[in-house]
Amino acid sequence: MALLDTYGLTATYGDFQALFGVDITLGEAETIAIIGANGAGKTTLMRSISGVLRNAPGMVQFNGRDIGALAADEIMAQGVAMVPEGRKLFPSLSVEENLLIGTYGRRVSGHWSLGSVYDLFPILKDRRHSPGTALSGGQQQMVAIGRALMSNPRVLLCDEISLGLAPVVIKDIYKAVPAIKAAGASLIVVEQDIGQAMAVADRVYCMMEGRVTLTGAPDALSRDAIHDAYFGAG
Ligand code: ATP
Repeated sequence: MALLDTYGLTATYGDFQALFGVDITLGEAETIAIIGANGAGKTTLMRSISGVLRNAPGMVQFNGRDIGALAADEIMAQGVAMVPEGRKLFPSLSVEENLLIGTYGRRVSGHWSLGSVYDLFPILKDRRHSPGTALSGGQQQMVAIGRALMSNPRVLLCDEISLGLAPVVIKDIYKAVPAIKAAGASLIVVEQDIGQAMAVADRVYCMMEGRVTLTGAPDALSRDAIHDAYFGAG
């Protein structure tokens, strides 16, 4: 049985329709990547799954339960956590205080604590009393991931975690993925970098203009098929 599914998911901003019947499925211990050009609807999909945007009932199923119409805090308590685009740290709070924010309303059982987040990203332990603003972009991204992990997620939604970071830093951050999986989470990763998406994901979904245009395992997708799904054929 899949851990999380969307069924004909739609989303609108006022009169503007951003998603048109998106079906995705995420298995236990699986990583899927969502790729697509600017404006394809990737962030909207993450916001819809996490409850930041409210859905109709029946559109999102998690762990055998309809979470489509739940509020964001209820969805987080069920075990779906989001690392938002742009990190969204509290700049005046320290690293440790930012991490502790992730514990509010969290799932009771799970692997994650300040200690296990510091084991994952040792630099954060050294910087634990520094304010968010004093950190590099990569360190801020580690805090954003750590904060989401503190809720003990079974599904971690990562929205463009490599945006604006140097390749060596991106590599460091993605090195955390196996440990996150080993601790019991599946991941949905939104990535503009197709190579990175292919490297990390068990399966890839490509979106264009609010629809899924291609899906499959990375080694089953040709460059041409990805190009067409990304930019449109012809
Ligand atoms: P990016 O890579 O630029 O983040 P994306 O694939 O994540 O792109 P979304 O941010 O989900 O795409 O945007 C999908 C569409 O919805 C775009 O046409 C965008 O302009 C529109 N959109 C996003 N947020 C809003 C909003 N708050 N109000 C109105 N339209 C929005």
